[in-house]
Amino acid sequence: MTDKGKLFIVSAPSGAGKTTLIKYILSRYHNLYYSVSHTTRAPRRDEQDRIDYFFISPEEFKKKINLGFWLEWAKVHENYYGTSKELVTARLNNGSSLILDIDVQGARQVMKSDIDMVTVFIMPPSIEVLCRRLENRGTDSRKTIETRLENADKEMASKNLYKYVVMNDDLDRAKKELCHIFEKEMV
Ligand code: 5GP
Repeated sequence: MTDKGKLFIVSAPSGAGKTTLIKYILSRYHNLYYSVSHTTRAPRRDEQDRIDYFFISPEEFKKKINLGFWLEWAKVHENYYGTSKELVTARLNNGSSLILDIDVQGARQVMKSDIDMVTVFIMPPSIEVLCRRLENRGTDSRKTIETRLENADKEMASKNLYKYVVMNDDLDRAKKELCHIFEKEMV
């Protein structure tokens, strides 16, 4: 019998630097995997199916809701996103730990389960910085950026639901703080 792995939920408003921080953490720890979500959003120019997301149609997504396929799912910025129950359970039962990069609505759903989890919220220094980062990323339209900024405010209001809140005002410092959390919690 192997021990079960641990589930790490990481949430942050779009543009808070979450992807960079998660990539860094994944590069440092063996036996820690990224949970690839499903989405109905169109792939961005550098994204690959099954690596960044499983890109599926809204019809397929809704069918999977009825089939009880999702551990959690949510409509985020006009698109559907969800985590496969089976993929998460298989990994954890295998003794591997897993990072779920999901929004606050999804995190609330997983928090209600009895899975052994650690929750982390990444805060951007300010809405102005967030706006600048989204504009500089150059992957989203003006309208998409505006929707994401409106949602950022709502998400940040829920940060106290999480066990840890990491301020990403300085990338190196935020990386160190996250490493500290993972090292403490991964045992
Ligand atoms: P993006 O479109 O920028 O890749 O992601 C937008 C938002 O959707 C991010 O806040 C991300 O954390 C969230 N997200 C990604 N995958 C999932 C998922 O499986 N479930 C939920 N609830 N949110 C997700």
